[in-house]
Amino acid sequence: MLHSEPIAALATAPGIGAIAVIRVSGDDAIAITNRFFRGKDLTQQPTHTAHFGTLRNPDDTIIDEVLATVFRAPRSFTKEDVVEISCHGSEFIVRQILQRLVAEGVRLARPGEFTQRAFLNGQFDLVQAEAVADLIASDSDASHRAALTQLRGGFSKQLIDLRQQLIDFVALVELELDFGEEDVEFAHRDQLRQLMLSIRRVLHPLIESFAAGNVIKNGVATVIVGKPNAGKSTLLNALLNEEKAIVSDIPGTTRDVIEDELFIDGIRFRLIDTAGLRSATDKIEAIGIERTQQKMRDAALVIYLFDAASISTDDLQAALTEVHESGKPYLLVGNKLDALDTARKQQLEAVADESIHWISAAQHTNLDALRAALSNRVRTDAAVQIGSAVVTNVRHHDHLTGTDNALARALDGLDSGVTPDWLAMDLRVALQHLGELTGQITTDDLLDSIFSKFCIGK
Ligand code: GDP
Repeated sequence: MLHSEPIAALATAPGIGAIAVIRVSGDDAIAITNRFFRGKDLTQQPTHTAHFGTLRNPDDTIIDEVLATVFRAPRSFTKEDVVEISCHGSEFIVRQILQRLVAEGVRLARPGEFTQRAFLNGQFDLVQAEAVADLIASDSDASHRAALTQLRGGFSKQLIDLRQQLIDFVALVELELDFGEEDVEFAHRDQLRQLMLSIRRVLHPLIESFAAGNVIKNGVATVIVGKPNAGKSTLLNALLNEEKAIVSDIPGTTRDVIEDELFIDGIRFRLIDTAGLRSATDKIEAIGIERTQQKMRDAALVIYLFDAASISTDDLQAALTEVHESGKPYLLVGNKLDALDTARKQQLEAVADESIHWISAAQHTNLDALRAALSNRVRTDAAVQIGSAVVTNVRHHDHLTGTDNALARALDGLDSGVTPDWLAMDLRVALQHLGELTGQITTDDLLDSIFSKFCIGK
């Protein structure tokens, strides 16, 4: 293990809480903490043990009663010596303890520095390190699961293995270069082709999962559009109020319902552009077609609502044309089911010639079915099983496509019989992308940019 200066940071959320945890990692982390800890001699304690004691000021007054947990290298998150100090969750106490640590020669950690050390010390690869950040930020079931899958090695193990095989081939191709004019082939071309094809087979579903992965992480931008009086604000309020009711029905939940967000089957729907909808009094909407198109452009999913009690068949036709032209996935929703007779319903269904989701927003009829349809739409459109390896990170996506493009060029080259130096060049590009993806090739800039996105203490 290389020399590593001791660092410390608050590992729990800042603010007031029952307890706060301060993490100290690096050379002498245990000995330094022990200098102002009164209790057992921490330097003599085995790894993974917790010890009650007090932390003292230089004048021996007590800062706090704490629990100090000792982790010895390499059996810790950073693979360095680590002490986790659990103290009372007061900002004052936390500050006092950190000040004491700094006075003893410990440096305050930068954001992500613990995870960066864990990565540099081989605890996990880069994709997994980034998953740690996602895991911390995850706030829905699906994003939590996607981050966990990556953390457990999701797709990177397979790519690391394939990259190694490709390196072996590149070495052989480059050996051919040394023989210049002589017509030798050390690298078996058919096997090389097979390897490249199998790498691309691994890459493609990952690249495709990016769109779905993004949905999981950032939510589905959803917009409710329709003519004035279709019932848009009534529907919005009905969905949001039921959401509040659902959340407060779950015992022990304290999550605040965020305005304009719905969680359905663990998927987050972000209802966008609802400002004018919320209050039913805000009725300046002479929403022209252009305005509606603009709203739909920003959305990933459209709920097209119409007033089934009053819409003419011509207007329904026009509405359908409009929503088709937007090219967005949409649900066609007929409102005011309560004010509708069967004949009219059938007539509208015949005109639409596609499935209509019938609801009554005012009476909360069929809202469960509407929610199920929303969730279903996202799952089938995205065509990914949530929980399988999902790429949610732009950096991963760029390197995956970079690898894929380079391999496509190399395969073309093989088919047209290019010289080994051209082939080697494309393969090198592919290896570079793969290496940067999994973190086997890194630059300081890259590492700094990745780990600085973490919060302090991680
Ligand atoms: P918006 O202009 O599209 O936002 O429409 P509103 O939500 O303001 O609704 C327009 C009118 O339709 C209001 O008077 C609502 O009470 C009424 N309305 C909304 N949903 C229903 C429904 O399901 N059934 C009936 N009968 N009336 C509804």
